[in-house]
Amino acid sequence: MPSRPVSDRWRIRPRTTVDLAAIDPGTKAGAPGDKLATKDASAVLRARLAELQARLYAEGSRSLLVVLQAMDAGGKDGTVRAVFEGVNPQGVRVASFKAPTAQELAHDFLWRIHAQAPGDGEIAVFNRSHYEDVLVVRVHGLVGEDVVRARFRRIRAFEELLVGEGTTVVKIMLHISPEEQRTRLQERVDDPAKRWKFNAADLAEREHWDAYQRAFEDAIAATTTRDAPWYVVPGDRNWYRNWAVLNILVDTLERLDPQYPPAPAGVEGTVVE
Ligand code: AMP
Ligand code: MG
Repeated sequence: MPSRPVSDRWRIRPRTTVDLAAIDPGTKAGAPGDKLATKDASAVLRARLAELQARLYAEGSRSLLVVLQAMDAGGKDGTVRAVFEGVNPQGVRVASFKAPTAQELAHDFLWRIHAQAPGDGEIAVFNRSHYEDVLVVRVHGLVGEDVVRARFRRIRAFEELLVGEGTTVVKIMLHISPEEQRTRLQERVDDPAKRWKFNAADLAEREHWDAYQRAFEDAIAATTTRDAPWYVVPGDRNWYRNWAVLNILVDTLERLDPQYPPAPAGVEGTVVE
């Protein structure tokens, strides 16, 4: 029996209910050691990720989509920075989804999303995603509950389409505590280098903390599938979070096992004059 991948710890199995309150955002469970030892382990995983990405790119026939979701100040930007440093930027594309433009709103909610899906050989990282349309949109009552239910089905169908056409899909929720969010939002006020990120609207959203947690639980439970699984990663400690996300991506790509294409006939032994 192959041993259970490290990332299984954070994977949400299909047909389960999700209870975010039962997942400690500050945990160090499963980490290879203290902060320093875990950072060392992450460096090894980063090298492994770079190698796997190079193979995926060279193979040129499959792709990976990484969906990142979190509460405000949940660490999405920091995760992208820490996890993908060392990976060839040529093969990775980050798509950040903001509040929809008028043109985007004039289309179905997956229109702008599908356009950013990864092409052959590519890794696409969604910094927010189609899930906003069942999170922020739901918390603010911009659509009815019947539409939310229908969107869960449409999201499953959309992701099944991507998977069927050669894209591996992983979805990661960075799970922070309200205390950690408070600390991080305060840092955005106090630290001149972080002030550009401060957004008064985040304070208003913070009032809806519980509604967001419920919306996350429902969305994750409704859309975690064998082929497009959700992972909930404890996010209060950046070093733990980065190590966890690296494990998820490395495990996923190792299962995919991308290969360098075979040399064309006659190439072997060729001497370049
Ligand atoms: P940030 O990630 O801090 O740049 O903020 C992006 C903002 O866009 C957040 O407030 C999101 O809630 C918002 N947003 C993203 N997608 C949607 C959507 N589909 N509908 C409404 N708001 C959205
Ligand atoms: Mg923000």
